[in-house]
Amino acid sequence: MGSAAFILGEYASQSAVDPVDETEEQPMGTRRFVIKEQRICRRLVFDENEPTKIRYAVVENLLHGTSMNVHATQFVICGGTVLGAQLLYASNIRPEALGRYLTEQPLAFCQVVLSRDKIESIREDQRFKKDLDIHQELHPNDPVPIPLNDPDPQCWIPVSSGRPWHCQIHRDAFAFGDTAPHIDQRLVVDFWWFGLVKQVPENRVTFSDKNHDIFGMPQSTFHFEESTEFADQNHDMLHDMVRATKELGGYLPGSYPQFMQPGTSLHMHGHTRIGEDPKTSVADRNSKVWDTDNLWIGGCGCIDTAIACNPTLTACALAIKAVNDSMLAPNE
Ligand SMILES: Cc1cc2nc3c(=O)[nH]c(=O)nc-3n(C[C@H](O)[C@H](O)[C@H](O)COP(=O)(O)OP(=O)(O)OC[C@H]3O[C@@H](n4cnc5c(N)ncnc54)[C@H](O)[C@@H]3O)c2cc1C
Repeated sequence: MGSAAFILGEYASQSAVDPVDETEEQPMGTRRFVIKEQRICRRLVFDENEPTKIRYAVVENLLHGTSMNVHATQFVICGGTVLGAQLLYASNIRPEALGRYLTEQPLAFCQVVLSRDKIESIREDQRFKKDLDIHQELHPNDPVPIPLNDPDPQCWIPVSSGRPWHCQIHRDAFAFGDTAPHIDQRLVVDFWWFGLVKQVPENRVTFSDKNHDIFGMPQSTFHFEESTEFADQNHDMLHDMVRATKELGGYLPGSYPQFMQPGTSLHMHGHTRIGEDPKTSVADRNSKVWDTDNLWIGGCGCIDTAIACNPTLTACALAIKAVNDSMLAPNE
């Protein structure tokens, strides 16, 4: 968590904010929400009289160590990859599935230097002629027929049946794709193949009551193992990537085909999954946390199936559904 933030929505008007030690409280005015940076939500507290209803959130100012209780009618946890689950745990909301069904995307990576014939073929391609003529007039000694400000390639192939991985070919979209300064960036493309791993309850993130992270929240520990089936599948994925690279060129020394460290894809999901069964999910299909009346959870953790694509739009879609079908629904 680089910078904790806490968002007060229109359901938490200023009069509903009950400052304990908070000295710089700002009125909400006509704003629909306020982002309070450098605040951490320590826990959500249930109403003593209504045990399924969250009454307030305990929010701490990380800079000053002061704390306030935020009262609202509805609460949404959107703490990102793992910290949403952590906040549930810290609030003593610990359904059986919390942290379980954690999955991520094994990542195969390499960098390819485009072959000479591929580069030279650009000169013959009429689609690029106009831009190339301008470039060559400006830079007659440039041996590479690619304008200096040409946009980086951004190509992808989605998952399909018989090909359960997502392929991305682009240039330097991730820090791992950095190349040495003396390498002409126009000649290098990065290959990223994202695999999928079935969600199983054994793969999980757990939280500790005893140990804490640097923010004083329950420390997370990851337990993750690929089944043989998925290890084989990921092996096929690596082969597929190698096959594709052969069409474009040779490997950049040091960036040979490899699996990246687990977690590199930053696409973990499943650990606060939605579903129909409270035993195997943390929230219902509208992201409302089981056994609560006014608490919803958002983020990639809600995704309840193995995916190999970029997950954020799916998380956004689930959030929109939660708002339309549950938070704003008259019978909720
Ligand atoms: C380098 C990188 C590249 C990525 N590229 C892509 C991509 O191309 N496509 C894609 O789909 N996804 C990508 N992702 C993943 C994407 O960033 C996440 O899926 C997305 O940001 C999740 O949004 P979120 O709002 O759920 O969580 P976050 O963006 O993580 O926001 C959660 C916020 O909650 C705060 N928080 C947590 N706990 C507390 C607490 N207790 N109290 C107060 N605040 C708290 C955190 O500090 C954070 O500010 C990438 C991620 C990284 C790091």
